[in-house]
Amino acid sequence: MSPQYARRSVAALSVLAAAIAAEASETVGASINAKGVTEIFGNHFGMPGVNATYDYVVVGGGTAGNTIAARLALDPANYSVALIEAGTFYEILSSNRTQVPGYNFEAANPTNVGTLSSMTAVQIDTEPIAGYNGRKIGYVQGMTFGGASAANYGGYMRSTVGAHDRWAKAVKDDFWSWDNVFPFYKKSCNFSAPDYTKIDPKLNISYDPAAYDAAGGPLHVSYGNYVAPSMVGIGEAMERQGLEHIPGFDSGRLLGYGSLLAAIDPRTATRSSSETSFLQAGAKSAGLRIYPNAMAKRIVFDSDKKATGVVVKGNSKTTNVEWTISAKKEVIVSAGVWRSPQLLMVSGVGPSATLSQHGIDVIADLPGVGQNQWDQPFQSHIFKVKVETNSQIVAHNPKVLADVTNQYLTNQSGPLSSIGATQAAGYENIPASMRQRVLSNDTQALMDSYPSDWPDINFLGLESSAVPADIGPDEYYLLYTDMFAEKIADAILKGE
Ligand SMILES: Cc1cc2nc3c(=O)[nH]c(=O)nc-3n(C[C@H](O)[C@H](O)[C@H](O)COP(=O)(O)OP(=O)(O)OC[C@H]3O[C@@H](n4cnc5c(N)ncnc54)[C@H](O)[C@@H]3O)c2cc1C
Repeated sequence: MSPQYARRSVAALSVLAAAIAAEASETVGASINAKGVTEIFGNHFGMPGVNATYDYVVVGGGTAGNTIAARLALDPANYSVALIEAGTFYEILSSNRTQVPGYNFEAANPTNVGTLSSMTAVQIDTEPIAGYNGRKIGYVQGMTFGGASAANYGGYMRSTVGAHDRWAKAVKDDFWSWDNVFPFYKKSCNFSAPDYTKIDPKLNISYDPAAYDAAGGPLHVSYGNYVAPSMVGIGEAMERQGLEHIPGFDSGRLLGYGSLLAAIDPRTATRSSSETSFLQAGAKSAGLRIYPNAMAKRIVFDSDKKATGVVVKGNSKTTNVEWTISAKKEVIVSAGVWRSPQLLMVSGVGPSATLSQHGIDVIADLPGVGQNQWDQPFQSHIFKVKVETNSQIVAHNPKVLADVTNQYLTNQSGPLSSIGATQAAGYENIPASMRQRVLSNDTQALMDSYPSDWPDINFLGLESSAVPADIGPDEYYLLYTDMFAEKIADAILKGE
């Protein structure tokens, strides 16, 4: 090789390395800093098995935990932060199923939990439920950096003006009113308008530009790079049902129908989770240490009942040790709807009768902990349709899979680049006359106590996530889902 050619190759390689570093700045383990050191992997891990002290200890690296830890870590001069997560990086364990938006049906489907299709989530079964004919229901919980934001459907929408104002009243803190929180919604995400070089322009997605800021934040929200033709029909059905067309669901209003955003980075057509967004941003700070495969076993309290740390156990065969991570300022519990109350209760915070029954010393008798879980039950209808849906992908048709994979890899477009529901979501209130006919007085009174802009039902047109075992190679199915708001869930679950 001539010296000149070698020099050109080295120059080309360093340009390539710089390009990879720039491209990869949001890819776990591949973000390379100015000194050539890989971010997150290497210098951002805490040492398993070694006691350590930080200002803040955050338990649970899910949707909330990553965001909180990353925000605190942005001030490394003042705060050191430990983030403890029972799982590890979903990109390593199950990348297709989690990173590629079009496979979300595999990641989020309870029937796949615990199988090779979803190694980043766990399933929790309920006791038999009256309203479900005595059946047990399996709930999915993400167990990975990103939490459920790495295993969910990825739909992005915001709450309503009335719901925020009710919340502010309930907690007697006007900070939570819609007007005060709206700027923070805008600050957290980075909006991309539909790319009509990849999405059919005929679909004409409408959105409210005032709902987003140009500066934005780390979470990518977009329409993916594909809108399924079936969604047009679903939109028309909602129009005929009498729902008003609205420009998306991010401006404080939900009642109506329109296009749903998704947590997808359209440049790479990959899932934008709290890990790829907030955690990666926080990892640029020297103040953050992350503990993967680390299960918080209990919170440690001092004699004044102040939380001073967490006992942690390695959650893999290779880190089967126990150690303590102490907090100079606060322990923040963000282990999700199931595990946060569980951790509090095993640590002595909860209803004293239940704690005593299990031989747990009571630190604080708080009867509400671990009680009153509300839900959003949904029912799905599957229709055979004449337009192409992702049924053949769900059915693992090899030719279709090869085609869509090729489209995804060459152009970051096609069905795999989207969550398959972007064009058609709707929210409605049950008409008063029907409420009186089908709901008990108690349920109606409960519903009346909610703000009038808080919907009863959410309609979702989804590309199919269930197909018959004997599906033919040219057959397509569509899933249409009604999701009931938590205010009527109670009645459904009790079988009223
Ligand atoms: C199947 C499914 C689909 C969904 N679809 C959507 C959607 O399309 N749009 C939407 O907005 N929302 C959706 N959601 C809801 C949304 O994902 C959740 O509301 C949100 O992720 C909850 O965030 P969290 O931080 O409270 O908990 P999580 O994100 O669940 O995070 C909790 C984290 O704590 C960790 N953890 C638990 N216990 C411990 C412990 N003892 N020690 C250490 N770590 C621990 C877990 O591993 C997990 O990573 C969906 C949820 C599911 C399950």
